[in-house]
Amino acid sequence: MSRITYVNGRYVSHREAAVHIEDRGYQFADGVYEVCEVRGGRLVDERRHVARLQRSLSELRIPLPMSLSALSVVLHETVRRNRVSEGIVYLQVTRGVARRDFAFPTPGGRPSVVVTARTLDLASNDKIAAQGMAVVTVQDNRWERVDIKSVSLLPNVLAKQAARDRGAREAWFVDRDGRVTEGASSNAWIVSADGKVITRPAERGILRGITRTVLLDAIKAKGLVLEERPFTVAEAYAASEAFVTSASQIVMPVTRIDDRPVGAGTPGTVTLALRAAFHRHAEFS
Ligand code: PLP
Repeated sequence: MSRITYVNGRYVSHREAAVHIEDRGYQFADGVYEVCEVRGGRLVDERRHVARLQRSLSELRIPLPMSLSALSVVLHETVRRNRVSEGIVYLQVTRGVARRDFAFPTPGGRPSVVVTARTLDLASNDKIAAQGMAVVTVQDNRWERVDIKSVSLLPNVLAKQAARDRGAREAWFVDRDGRVTEGASSNAWIVSADGKVITRPAERGILRGITRTVLLDAIKAKGLVLEERPFTVAEAYAASEAFVTSASQIVMPVTRIDDRPVGAGTPGTVTLALRAAFHRHAEFS
């Protein structure tokens, strides 16, 4: 089956899907995106993802070029046309096409909208979750506005490649005070030896992950103690469990940090319980 992609009002063959070379997303990374999990053909936490999209757009003063109901139709239709049952839907909105000039183009231009959907291999994700994955720590060299889900991801690309080069699947950014901010494409969590679940507050230095937000409900429902505070790399080394969260991985156990085993070096019980519970707290549409 050939893939279908939505580009600026049309559903086109994925192979031929294109935006103009003077799209500001291409020229300046002047745009934002969202990734939403698809389960059983339904979108997971669409409402929260779209709310975050609106926030990212308004921070950058990019108007949303269609109504929220039309956007929802496009997201679902792209999933349907690609027959995605388990996977992800990707949405990108840029400031649109304009003659190359740093400042915003004069009003009247239309933002560009692209939506793609693809199937993910759930079994292989579960296999990784059963083994746990390795992360490496890298210096956080990103700009301050990482709360905006911008397509400007070069530091994240370099961090992810550094992880790959060192045999790991994810990189954890570390701030100047030696505290973990978040992963290159995920939020970072540890479980302390006395069972507290610890993650950095979303107010500064990280993207407020939707998976993170939903997981807070799961943590509460399980009666676990949550500490929203920055944690150091040393604390992470000494933790009994660690994991990351993102829409495409849900809760993914971390069993090695910088080549040191976390706890027993196997996925932790709290981590696996939260992974199993996650979708009970998510919204489906
Ligand atoms: N932090 C960063 C830098 C990310 O890129 C992502 C997801 O791509 C997340 C956190 C997790 O966000 P979410 O749970 O909404 O997927």
